[in-house]
Amino acid sequence: MSWFNSKNLCSHCNITKTNQKFENAITCPQCESNILLAREGIRMCPVDQTEMTKENHKGIILDRCSKCNGVWLDRDELSSMQELAIEDSDFATGMVIGMAIG
Ligand SMILES: [Zn+2]
Ligand SMILES: [Zn+2]
Repeated sequence: MSWFNSKNLCSHCNITKTNQKFENAITCPQCESNILLAREGIRMCPVDQTEMTKENHKGIILDRCSKCNGVWLDRDELSSMQELAIEDSDFATGMVIGMAIG
């Protein structure tokens, strides 16, 4: 196993230097986030049927509704989010977290 000591150009944007790898390619955090977000489907808020905005918080993809400020997660994301909320109380303040159905 070899680790990069020096930073390399991201293979996706060829702009940002990073020593991080994602799926065996040199990938900066911004590109990794974009790739993950692009894979997720558009979700409607279960409360008011508003199309939700995707956000990436430390690798956890969540859907936020701009109308009711609700945040919806997949079942397996909920426990990661709870840990994140404990660590980062500013992030969690005022947030309404619900579990996505299905
Ligand atoms: Zn990049
Ligand atoms: Zn809503």
